[in-house]
Amino acid sequence: MRHRLASYTQQSQRYVSLKEFNYITPATINDKPEWEGKYHQMYRAAHRLYLEMLDAGIPAEYARYVLPNAAETRLVMTMNARELIHACSLRLCLRAQWEIVELFEHI
Ligand SMILES: Cc1cc2nc3c(=O)[nH]c(=O)nc-3n(C[C@H](O)[C@H](O)[C@H](O)COP(=O)(O)OP(=O)(O)OC[C@H]3O[C@@H](n4cnc5c(N)ncnc54)[C@H](O)[C@@H]3O)c2cc1C
Repeated sequence: MRHRLASYTQQSQRYVSLKEFNYITPATINDKPEWEGKYHQMYRAAHRLYLEMLDAGIPAEYARYVLPNAAETRLVMTMNARELIHACSLRLCLRAQWEIVELFEHI
């Protein structure tokens, strides 16, 4: 969303309850069994708490505060070809983080 010459439509965590919860696991963590377990445990606990809050009548827009950074999102991004070339030059850079590189490889 730092690319200003684009428009974005992102699925709302305020109005869409995440009964099914997907999150991203970086390979760096997947490759380390001693951390992988703790990572998944933490995400399962966060999702459990989220669902408990929904059951207790707390609106999704507040319950979502317990969901950590790796929560999956869905969005539509629209940009023209000139901006796409610009964005690709920045996002396919070796210094960009793997997830955004992978996204732009798909684009
Ligand atoms: C590897 C990487 C690491 C990053 N790390 C950080 C970070 O640590 N912290 C952080 O805050 N951000 C970070 N960013 C985001 C970065 O700072 C930019 O916000 C983002 O890449 C958008 O770039 P841009 O402004 O060139 O592009 P866009 O917003 O896509 O704009 C495209 C071009 O249009 C022109 N333009 C757009 N708007 C204007 C305007 N209002 N006035 C004049 N010209 C305009 C400029 O020429 C601009 O380059 C990172 C980006 C990358 C790729």
